[in-house]
Amino acid sequence: MCGIFGAVTPGADAAGIAALGVFSLQHRGQESAGIAVSDNGQLMLYKDLGLIAQVLDERRLPSLRGPLAIAHCRYSTTGSTIWENAQPTFRMSRGKSIAVGHNGNLVNTRELLARLEGGKSRLPATTDTELLTALLADDPSGDTVQALLNVLPHVKGAYSLAILDEKRVIGVRDPIGFRPLVLGRLEPAADDPRGKHSGGWVISSESAAIEVVGGTVVRDIEPGEIVILEEGKDPVSIRFAEGHEQLCVFELIYFGRPDSYMLGRNLYESRRRMGVALATEAPVEADLVMPVPDTGAPAAAGYAEGSGLPYREGMVRNRYSGRTFIQPSQGMRQRGVTVKLSPLREVVAGKRLIVVDDSIVRGTTTRQIVALLRKAGATEIHLRISSPPIHHPCFYGIDTQVETELIASTHSVDEIRDFVGADSLTFLSIGGVLSALDLPYDRFCFACFDGRYPVPVPYDTARHKFVLEDADGEPVSQGESAAMAANHPQPND
Ligand code: SF4
Repeated sequence: MCGIFGAVTPGADAAGIAALGVFSLQHRGQESAGIAVSDNGQLMLYKDLGLIAQVLDERRLPSLRGPLAIAHCRYSTTGSTIWENAQPTFRMSRGKSIAVGHNGNLVNTRELLARLEGGKSRLPATTDTELLTALLADDPSGDTVQALLNVLPHVKGAYSLAILDEKRVIGVRDPIGFRPLVLGRLEPAADDPRGKHSGGWVISSESAAIEVVGGTVVRDIEPGEIVILEEGKDPVSIRFAEGHEQLCVFELIYFGRPDSYMLGRNLYESRRRMGVALATEAPVEADLVMPVPDTGAPAAAGYAEGSGLPYREGMVRNRYSGRTFIQPSQGMRQRGVTVKLSPLREVVAGKRLIVVDDSIVRGTTTRQIVALLRKAGATEIHLRISSPPIHHPCFYGIDTQVETELIASTHSVDEIRDFVGADSLTFLSIGGVLSALDLPYDRFCFACFDGRYPVPVPYDTARHKFVLEDADGEPVSQGESAAMAANHPQPND
């Protein structure tokens, strides 16, 4: 995950629009934030660790003026959470400057590193984005678009990019289209004498952010497409590769905002329909249906609708407990999920519950939730998960566990049920997901569910995801790996 937003707004405050846009994408990354602005051929960059509102505050934004800007919020999949790894990245070469914001993960970094003159020592950060930025800046053409055309054929993996140079904001989507990227328009004011070019153009990871900044969604940027946005001009599209979209299905199941649209599907509606499909696939006698807040709510609403059972909120979520919450002590850390979620005794006591969530990764959070609900007096707990079991790691931008840490890779559904302490447990099938989305299998990446990776993953990239290694590359024991994983919070567990 990561959120990217770019804006070209002649005569207006592109930084403010890009900051508001990326603020609307905060759910995609909470570790760091940054913005790059171009004004009169000069690029300025500001980035830091923290949430967008902390990094791009009212003291910082007014100093970043100009008609072109890109912004980024980061959720790390390569490289640790240090200032150098925050984005956008920036490079100056041959008198030209570029800044890059990236959502995704490249799988052939070793191969790409071999193409970089001077190698690793030239990179101030440890991310795949820094490497890509250096390759683009080094390109002898000295032109950002030509550099993309020269470099991208060698790049493998997932990348939706927002790039800024002196004159342009450029959106790029990889040939598989793993991660979303949307083009939008800012309408000109009716009385502006400059006519249609007084409005502007934006690119965004998600459609909802375009609407938040007052824009209109034009279309998805296509897999294998480069879209060039320049002041006073209509967007220019260049195809750099034959594209066949296989969007990450997890974007629709869990990651994207419910008010966003992907592949023409509204995400709230998609999740509600997954809940309806789950009720058809896995009915059970119970008193009520409740979600694991917040992300399980649309599917729970669908399950209630499909089953005819009442929908209730049986837990409340502390809305200020983001993923970046730093537990100050080991004791606090052990409190785990209770920091985030509390059961509503009035709702759950004496009831047979159907508890709907979007996914199970390690199973530890689910186990705590089940224990909390039992302590609050629930008599039966039937877990219904609106996605299939996660058997395999992701290499395309979602930081799922190494394979041995994914509970479904080592346990049957019955064993998971026993581990989490539920009375019954059912996952939605891949067919159920597809029927809810009303789209064919080949429009999506389902690799973490079925292991069919759309882009082959080189061995050197893959091995650390199958067996957890220590800093020396040695496999670690299960106990050690659990401790390492506990220090690296996951999307759901
Ligand atoms: S492997 Fe899973 S999480 Fe990764 S892109 Fe594919 S569907 Fe999405």
